[in-house]
Amino acid sequence: MDKQAIIEAEGRYVMQTYRRADIVLERGEGVYLYDTDGQRYLDFMSGIAVAALGHCDPAVTAAVAQQAATLTHVSNLYHTIPHVGLARRLVEHSFADRVFFCNSGAEANEGALKFARKWARARAGEGKHEIVAFSGSFHGRTMGAISVTYKTAYREPFNPLLPGVCFAPFNDLATARELIGPATCAVILEPVQGEGGIHAATPEFLRGLRELCDRHGALLIFDEIQCGLGRTGRLWAHEAYAVTPDIMTLAKPLANGLPIGAILLTEKVAAAIGPGDHGSTFAAGPVVCRAAEVVFDRVSQPEFLAAVAENGEYLRRRLRELESKHIVDVRGTGLLVGVELDVPVAPVLAAARKHGLLIINAGDNVLRIAPPLIVTKDHIDTAVDILRECLAT
Ligand SMILES: *Cc1c(COP(=O)(O)O)cnc(C)c1O
Repeated sequence: MDKQAIIEAEGRYVMQTYRRADIVLERGEGVYLYDTDGQRYLDFMSGIAVAALGHCDPAVTAAVAQQAATLTHVSNLYHTIPHVGLARRLVEHSFADRVFFCNSGAEANEGALKFARKWARARAGEGKHEIVAFSGSFHGRTMGAISVTYKTAYREPFNPLLPGVCFAPFNDLATARELIGPATCAVILEPVQGEGGIHAATPEFLRGLRELCDRHGALLIFDEIQCGLGRTGRLWAHEAYAVTPDIMTLAKPLANGLPIGAILLTEKVAAAIGPGDHGSTFAAGPVVCRAAEVVFDRVSQPEFLAAVAENGEYLRRRLRELESKHIVDVRGTGLLVGVELDVPVAPVLAAARKHGLLIINAGDNVLRIAPPLIVTKDHIDTAVDILRECLAT
């Protein structure tokens, strides 16, 4: 089937919720993607911060193929080996005591909100149900997740949403202090905001929220779906702050592209949740869990994380050296980088694509650069050269 036929069929048969770029991607290898015309692209967005080990990593592919030929699905009514293997890894390398698996980021946040609600109700009754979220937040597209997502265009067409949600300006501890009180059940935020424009929480802000949650008996939920699992050059983004949450959600890179989500929580919260309280037919399937074990074992290596931190620094330094008149700010941590422009980024994304570089936006005027965590300085040099051309006018 030729490219134009695919694009036309998409227009005819598929819900039009995405404005897809007019290329048809056919194959991936490492940091490269290839389209049906044989054009090669340097992928500096990783399928939205997902392909941490690059495309079709041989070890992931082998593990998936072997597991698919051994056992694919049995439901959560039985024990399986990869499920426990992955859970043990996540618990042993985090603040958490237990894990609940699901199938996406939105689902992980839904589950986190449900767990927080039940925990708070058991402790203090129905009145303790309020949730505090922040400006610039993105937590997913299901009803609970959009209720705590800031952008009104994502929320308002679907009103009424969860009651008892309020938003404070991100990094504004004074306002958060006014909004967090005895009726607060949970506070949810991304330690480094992704969709919202690549904004990192300040250390005072995260520490302050931890104190406020402790004072008012509320749970602190970190959404590390985009910034977690090595992306910032640390296994968990919150490690840089020496603040731990009560609940953390993961998804995007965890199985290098297969659908998975995870909710990590302390025993204090987990103890409020029992059999029948939550579930999922597909979650924790042997194939995704095997893939995630391979991802986790690689990404959690100290040398791997050190390379992410170093390459992230290098990328930001090279971007700053561009000295384009359109660049207002270069920010981010590790390989989650934002380049704020004084012009809309959409034409820059299209121009980069024409030059064989895939990147995305984070809002209207921020370029988001999130390459596979395996990139090298050579890849970074190539990407920066392309961006120089695209920002020249
Ligand atoms: C992508 C994302 C989500 C939603 O994940 P889905 O898998 O698309 O449902 C939630 N939170 C953050 C921070 C994200 O980046």
